[in-house]
Amino acid sequence: MTADLAGCKAALAHLDLDDNPATVRQKSRDFFWYSPVLKERLDHVTADFVVTPRNEAEVIEALAAAHAHGVPVTPRGAGTGNYGQAMPLSGGMVLHLKGLDKIAEIGPGRIRAGGGAIIAEIDRKARAAAGQELRMHPSTAQTASIGGFIAGGSGGVGSIRWGGLRDDGNVLGLRLVTCEARPRVLELRGDDMHKAIHAYGVNGIITEVEVPLTAAYDWVDVIVGFDEWAACNRYAEDIAHRDGLHLKELATVQAPAPHDYFLRHRRFIAREKHVAIIMVGPHSLEPLLTVTARDRRAAVLFRSDRDGAAGLPPAYELAWNHTTLRALRMDPAITYLQVLYRAPDTVERVVKMAAIFGDEVPGHVEWVRMDGRVRGAGLPMVRYTTEARLDEIIRIHEAEGCPIFNPHRYTLEEGGMKQTDPAQLAFKRETDPDGLLNPGKMIAWDDPDYDFASDRIYLFPGLNAAQ
Ligand code: FAD
Repeated sequence: MTADLAGCKAALAHLDLDDNPATVRQKSRDFFWYSPVLKERLDHVTADFVVTPRNEAEVIEALAAAHAHGVPVTPRGAGTGNYGQAMPLSGGMVLHLKGLDKIAEIGPGRIRAGGGAIIAEIDRKARAAAGQELRMHPSTAQTASIGGFIAGGSGGVGSIRWGGLRDDGNVLGLRLVTCEARPRVLELRGDDMHKAIHAYGVNGIITEVEVPLTAAYDWVDVIVGFDEWAACNRYAEDIAHRDGLHLKELATVQAPAPHDYFLRHRRFIAREKHVAIIMVGPHSLEPLLTVTARDRRAAVLFRSDRDGAAGLPPAYELAWNHTTLRALRMDPAITYLQVLYRAPDTVERVVKMAAIFGDEVPGHVEWVRMDGRVRGAGLPMVRYTTEARLDEIIRIHEAEGCPIFNPHRYTLEEGGMKQTDPAQLAFKRETDPDGLLNPGKMIAWDDPDYDFASDRIYLFPGLNAAQ
């Protein structure tokens, strides 16, 4: 069926609908430009119009009209995803969910919030109402939506203690609207939620989420410096394993990036210092300092309780993809990779990669818990030259036993496990039989025989031609 854009727009004219080309283009973009590969391929992508529903009933109306007129729908939270997840590859409608921002309920250990609610706002309200906060958030918490985090993210600040979004218990319930002639509202719980977690919205629009809360603290930011990259990572691995220390964030960044890129913290960090970036509960600060003092190679360079935090970004905005963002601002040629440094030789692998690539791939490791075990999730920066060299860097990592989750791909499969997720695919058949939701993001939908072993980038046949 060819998309009847005019018919769909006419049916939704009473909603908040914008077809001004400049705003539509702006709402058709996310942080895809983090990747020079995606920037080249997706820069021209734009939707035809944006609908901003005020509530779930309007989401249902928008999806029913899209279905009736064969119009593709790309959900959008805040557009901070950096794999082009929120980009409307086949044009059509961007469904901007920022209006679904109500907090429905706050109870001990849990909160129900609209899918479009801004994460930092959820934390502010949970803290004010009940002295609680979310277990984890992306480093984009100040701008990103909770629905976008669950549909497009993986974990972040808090993952050193709580693991990732996919870990059982870190999402409690999802309310989701299907894209059919009569859209249904589904309440997913238990295993069913995995069909929609990190599915880029290809099989339903998340209108409400139920997520766990934990005690809120006035987290203290601490930066510890080292002369050697290996010592820095050994220290991080050690404190990550100390279960008595209450940490919310733990990252290591290789010199000279901290001095060169963390401009507002620069006065605390000499150029030769590799750093561990830590958020610690105020009750755990003293024990952390005790453990740190035992390591003769460690020097505490910054403490927000001692040195003040005025004018400085929070520590988490030096971590996760904010490390890359700060580097990019200084050197636009920088991009990054996502690496798993397997245990038990995590630090050896981190150090080996640094030895192989030197300044071409400055090191950055996020220390997280995966299935209860401490792991090094690498987000090394890459001084990009060509796509061929980037592919070679990826191949070398994989040959050295360091798997890559490729952030230079816009499909679920290529950016993830390089295989079909049968549960997500089967669910899409039920919830989006015409394949209108976020087209082009699930290879298995378009090409069930796709060879994931091939090195070539998947080119979605429905990708709008460059304009
Ligand atoms: P969007 O970018 O708008 O959407 C993300 C995906 O979800 C898209 O596929 C979109 O179509 C879909 N979607 C959005 N809302 C819904 C909905 N209600 N229902 C169904 N589908 C929906 N990610 C992390 O996991 N951890 C991090 O620490 C982290 N740090 C980042 C730092 C920087 C500087 C940047 C640029 C990105 C970072 N990200 C991180 C990626 C991203 O910011 C987060 O995943 C964020 O939570 C996405 O939320 P959003 O509202 O911006 O989603």
